[in-house]
Amino acid sequence: MAHDSPLIAILVIGLGLAFVFGTIANRLKLSPLVGYLIAGIAIGPFTPGFVADRSLTLELADVGVILLMFGVGLHFSPRDLMSVRRTALPGAVLQVLIVASAGAYVAHVLGWPLGAGIVFGLALAIASTVVMMRALQEHGLVEGESGRLAAGWLVVQDLLSVLALVLLPPLADVLKGGALDPGALAVSLAETFGKLALFGALMFVGGARVVPWVLNYVAHTGSRELFRLAVLSLALGVAFAAAELFGVSIALGAFLAGMILSESPLSQRAAEESLPLRDAFAVLFFVSVGMLFDPMTLLREPQALALCLGVVLVLSGTCVFVLVRVFGYRLSTALLLAAGLAQIGEFSFILADLGIGLGLMPERARGLVLGTSILTILVNPLLFGAVSALIKRRAAAVPQPVLQPTSLTGHAILVGYGRVGRIVAQGLAAKALPFLVIEERADAIEALRQSGFAFLEGNGAGDGMLAAANLAGARILFVAIPQAFEAGQIVEQARAARPDLPIVARSHFDAETEHLARLGATSVIMGEREIAASMLAAAP
Ligand code: AMP
Repeated sequence: MAHDSPLIAILVIGLGLAFVFGTIANRLKLSPLVGYLIAGIAIGPFTPGFVADRSLTLELADVGVILLMFGVGLHFSPRDLMSVRRTALPGAVLQVLIVASAGAYVAHVLGWPLGAGIVFGLALAIASTVVMMRALQEHGLVEGESGRLAAGWLVVQDLLSVLALVLLPPLADVLKGGALDPGALAVSLAETFGKLALFGALMFVGGARVVPWVLNYVAHTGSRELFRLAVLSLALGVAFAAAELFGVSIALGAFLAGMILSESPLSQRAAEESLPLRDAFAVLFFVSVGMLFDPMTLLREPQALALCLGVVLVLSGTCVFVLVRVFGYRLSTALLLAAGLAQIGEFSFILADLGIGLGLMPERARGLVLGTSILTILVNPLLFGAVSALIKRRAAAVPQPVLQPTSLTGHAILVGYGRVGRIVAQGLAAKALPFLVIEERADAIEALRQSGFAFLEGNGAGDGMLAAANLAGARILFVAIPQAFEAGQIVEQARAARPDLPIVARSHFDAETEHLARLGATSVIMGEREIAASMLAAAP
């Protein structure tokens, strides 16, 4: 069966094993990426048993790359990209130069010629966009300062590798000792830049009108299925056209497609619609990386591999860190970028493939590039997780504005000042009942300031929050936030401290109602039920 329908075999066995190993990794508190890579090794040619069709797997993985980059583009407006051009452009160029030189030196130590050194160096200098963006997404950092800078940095690296891919073939002979043909070089350079510019112009001029118009039209048909299809065909179509017609990498093409859509009000919906497919195919990307890897490389070339790891993990990381700091960014941004970019992936494989194909680099280099990639992708989630935890800890250690305990007693405590909380607050104020609001969101705090109501700023489930609100002396607690999980924590804490206190909580599902009641809420108001009751009341 695996031989008759290789595509189905990959989907079933590849995704199935990724699921199994991913779950195991999750149990062991490792990143699921580790599991996906191991699944890839298991169905690769270097381990016994089933061997999946690699070129098919790679094509499927490309679908993942397209959707991932499209999603990144959706969160990213052209303005964001322009805002980091002064830093990301020189930063990435310098980092690639420095790291590629070090990589070329490693190649020299291994006894390879200069041409091999250049390709090998570049392969070690260009980070995997997929890995970095996934890390940012996992930690909810795509939209912040680090996300913007990272995306800018990756775009520049991406352009550099496109450039290298174009320049290598005409330069290959020179690097191997032949004579330079300036005419051929100029032609291929002009051709590449011409195509890039044409593609960019077409996207920004034509795409920025046509694409949102199509989506808008489809959105008004009211068919969710058609909208989803429109999003998919736009993302895949633009990326494919970019690669086939313009020689731009599909990753960059998809990123641009997402970016021109980011200004349209429909971008949020487009992002949501492409999510489930994106995640499934991105998994295949990691499986395909695992498939390429021969675990014996670890035993055959430990020293060379250690050198490469040093270049990517230590040198590249340090380089990024120093450059980002020099450009005046915060310590946390520098640490996140350094951790995120200290890995290599898809571009490195493509570069290595080309270098070997042109006869510039020995076959042995492929194993090293792959080994370095796998190991750095394995280490990356740990590194990134550690940095992100460190930053969060530091943020927590920064003295929070001291909670000023309230002097109110016999009051009501109201958690949440959103659509529900505001109406409760007005009602309490109208009855002249004393109350205190707990709220965490900046815009709601601003509204509270203007209203003149007493409030505490912070998470209602946070340490000492309820005590500062004088729970001991309160008359009643209203939990008017929509998330049942946090609401449950608040209810539980309050019930433990005050067995007699009336607690009124808000829910949206029957299961939530039960959950909150079990934790000690005296009464739970389910929003949907109240809406239905009011609707019915309007019946003649
Ligand atoms: P709405 O769903 O419009 O009633 O908004 C709920 C409000 O509750 C928002 O303003 C949130 O910022 C706020 N909120 C949600 N969770 C918490 C929490 N744990 N502590 C304090 N405020 C919260």
